[in-house]
Amino acid sequence: MTKVRRVRVARSDGSGGRAVQSYEVPEGARMTVLDGLLHIHRYCDRGLAFRYACRAGMCGTCSVTVNGVGRLACSTRLSAIPDEVVVVEPLRHFPVIRDLVVDFAPFFDAWRAVHPSFIPASTLADEARVQPESRERRLIDRHRECISCGICYAACDVVGMHPGFLGPAAMTRALCLLADSRGAGHEERLAVLDSARGCWRCHTHGTCADLCPKGLDPTRAIEKVKRILAARAMRRLVGLRPG
Ligand code: SF4
Repeated sequence: MTKVRRVRVARSDGSGGRAVQSYEVPEGARMTVLDGLLHIHRYCDRGLAFRYACRAGMCGTCSVTVNGVGRLACSTRLSAIPDEVVVVEPLRHFPVIRDLVVDFAPFFDAWRAVHPSFIPASTLADEARVQPESRERRLIDRHRECISCGICYAACDVVGMHPGFLGPAAMTRALCLLADSRGAGHEERLAVLDSARGCWRCHTHGTCADLCPKGLDPTRAIEKVKRILAARAMRRLVGLRPG
């Protein structure tokens, strides 16, 4: 007999508030939270709003809070959730548009603030390469697979306390660009990273690293950014010293 799982889903009540709706979902062996939401949408409630796209843990679209923790719905099996009841809510720290759909504007505002695109240095040779075995390559590789799922941003208590804080993902992106010797525009990046929105607010709790579905370590990336800024401040100080 197929096991039935109780799934409670946060629903918008139409007046800015939130209610919780309870559903029963048949739990197959490999069924994910996203499969559960699709079952609810197909058979119980056509009005339920949620996002998804790739269903393979690659696009970062289906992130939600599952029993208090940010997860990709498509990569979280119902059988892996030990609690009897599965509670699905929108990501923390994001304005809710409807039900489980949140507005990513604050996340991408932070992303934009660090100048997230590669700016080639004017001195760049035609075929500038980062050597595969170089330290630079290894540093970039450790931090570059971000899918912008927002789970680290939702997990970060500093984002909750200081809404303008850049958050883990934007600073991880910034580190990848700062580490790339072919790039330019670093002073603009460093200025925002050094500002009241930037890395010094990070308390090094490490929750972002614990929850990142791509196994990235934004806490470590932020530590590295702090070191880059400290070294820059030291260089400036030495430059000011009378000879
Ligand atoms: Fe998601 Fe990890 Fe990127 Fe944060 S760093 S947005 S948790 S993939």
